[in-house]
Amino acid sequence: MSIKIENLYYTYMDGGPFEKTALQDINIEINDGEFVGIIGHTGSGKSTLIQHLNGILKPTKGYVIINNINTQQKNLKELRSQVGIVFQYPEHQLFEETVKKDIAFGLIKQGLSQEEIDKRVIQSLESVGLNESILDKSPFELSGGQKRRVAIAGVIAMMPKILVLDEPTAGLDPIGRDEIFGYIKKLHKDFNMTIILVSHSMEDVARLTDRVIVMNQGSVFMDKPSREVYAEPEALEKIGLSAPQITYLMKRLKKSFPNINENVFTVEEA
Ligand code: ADP
Repeated sequence: MSIKIENLYYTYMDGGPFEKTALQDINIEINDGEFVGIIGHTGSGKSTLIQHLNGILKPTKGYVIINNINTQQKNLKELRSQVGIVFQYPEHQLFEETVKKDIAFGLIKQGLSQEEIDKRVIQSLESVGLNESILDKSPFELSGGQKRRVAIAGVIAMMPKILVLDEPTAGLDPIGRDEIFGYIKKLHKDFNMTIILVSHSMEDVARLTDRVIVMNQGSVFMDKPSREVYAEPEALEKIGLSAPQITYLMKRLKKSFPNINENVFTVEEA
């Protein structure tokens, strides 16, 4: 078991006049090597949930255990080396003078040897389709898509067992999007990395993941194999899809899962 979340509640500004319960009674178990999508409306609790995975937020109640590490504990070094989180628009956090220094930043903090750092910088760049030619460039000279990839490489370089991505392709064009998803799929396959993808895009989640968790108002509304979730009209409604969007999605899904039993598509065509 890679991730175990039990009876998790989280309240912002707990006890204050503006307290806000963002998560309630969350119970989720994720095994090594799963590829899980988390979807839900804005404000449904997705980012609050993922920030519990490396201890940025600590449960108000309940617990989160990652590979036997309880996130309540004070020393988070081991946890942070196991869980990499790529936040939305991660390129906003690039700050070093060169691409190389930016990717190496976390590795230096981990106390790795220079040789190991150099190796990992190159490997992680390659895993997002970039090469050494940009190592000495300033991150600010790069295109939007390249910056995004450098930022993702900085997380991958830590070789996390669990990679969490919050809308990793937001704002990219369709080609950039497909490329990044291609690299994520490859990481999942080659290293059996556990991937958690937070997305608004039903289509991306349907195409990529094995399992979907639908969040609604701070609770898990549904947690099922991807192909089943999309056969549930109320799940589709909950995430705000219109009838034409549902019809379109069903058609795309039939392409993605050619062997799927047609009966699972219970949604009426619009
Ligand atoms: P999502 O990622 O699905 O958009 P969030 O986890 O950001 O949802 O938000 C869940 C709820 O918690 C929302 O009602 C949001 O307004 C509230 N919230 C998020 N961050 C904070 C914060 N820093 N302080 C107070 N409330 C917050």
